[in-house]
Amino acid sequence: MPEIQIDFASDTITRPTDAMRQAMAQAAVGDDVFDEDPTVQALEARIAELVGKEDAIFVPSGTMCNQIAIRLHCRPGDEFLCEEGSHINNFEQAAHVQLSGVAPRPIRGEWGVLRLEQLEGMIRPENVHCVRTRLVCLENTHNRGAGRVQPFDTTQAICAWAEKNGLARHLDGARLFNAVVATGIPASDLAKPFDTISICFSKGLGAPIGSALCCSAGMIRDARRHRKVLGGGMRQAGIIAAGALYALEHHIDRLAEDHAKAQRLAEAIRNTPGLELDPDLVETNMVFFRVCGKGVATAQEFCARLRAWGIRMLPEVDGRIRAVTHLDVSMKQVDEACSIIHLMATDLANQLAEKATVANV
Ligand SMILES: *Cc1c(COP(=O)(O)O)cnc(C)c1O
Repeated sequence: MPEIQIDFASDTITRPTDAMRQAMAQAAVGDDVFDEDPTVQALEARIAELVGKEDAIFVPSGTMCNQIAIRLHCRPGDEFLCEEGSHINNFEQAAHVQLSGVAPRPIRGEWGVLRLEQLEGMIRPENVHCVRTRLVCLENTHNRGAGRVQPFDTTQAICAWAEKNGLARHLDGARLFNAVVATGIPASDLAKPFDTISICFSKGLGAPIGSALCCSAGMIRDARRHRKVLGGGMRQAGIIAAGALYALEHHIDRLAEDHAKAQRLAEAIRNTPGLELDPDLVETNMVFFRVCGKGVATAQEFCARLRAWGIRMLPEVDGRIRAVTHLDVSMKQVDEACSIIHLMATDLANQLAEKATVANV
């Protein structure tokens, strides 16, 4: 296998830039479990300000952020409403069940987007037979929804309904800044109707490690307890917080470049016979597509061929292929990948035509 030259596997694979590493090396640090790390504190203050909440807590991963949020809002025997394809419902080992005794109630949206009508009527009655419905979780941008941005008005309506019915609101905003850059709506406006918001620094923002949960000052004490019991109390965490702080200063606006790269890739796929975007709409940094035509190539085969050219994309279990653009793939590399994809799809189409001719002889 040749080295991977152009890697569309995920926006998590980015490596810290030299400037980011320098900021990390020079970070002032202290013991953050004693609440004495100045860089962690600076990061928490900055992200809270950006998202428009009173306070924030720095944690090792987005999964831990979401799970702390669920523990803040729910007790054992409670339930939360979420979209079926959400990260919380698919990629966190049902930690809320394993560790917190909280049940999910997934509802299928369209590319990760729920409508208010789908949620109405989902609140369980006060009845000894039932779990208690406590929380609504949304995801923006939506990972399995192909990076889709949650429509602003729908989100407002869902959160207003939840509030009226006494439900808490959590936003998995692992890629909230992709939504900010795609819509031009400030993070604080997107976050406003939510009680808690998780943000990942290790996705498109390009930091090596870390996420933050943003919420009211009153929730932070409990959040610190939950983080500690989940094993997320870190000592001189300023070293990694410095990378995240650097990312907030330098890597938000540049997400627009990742979106432009995704558009370029999408356009090439649209113009390549034998390939089909699925969904056709690309809003942020994720492109999903499939190889069409029976017996041409499975997603696995197509990805293996790409891999032989030094390009990595990931086959999905549903037969689609996922490509994510990020800091460590340049526009030039995207163009190279587009040419190779085009060649390969043409080659596949020719092989198929040949087979058909042989069969007809
Ligand atoms: C990546 C991601 C997370 C958190 O993942 P970790 O690997 O635990 O940091 C949470 N939600 C979404 C939507 C994600 O894409």
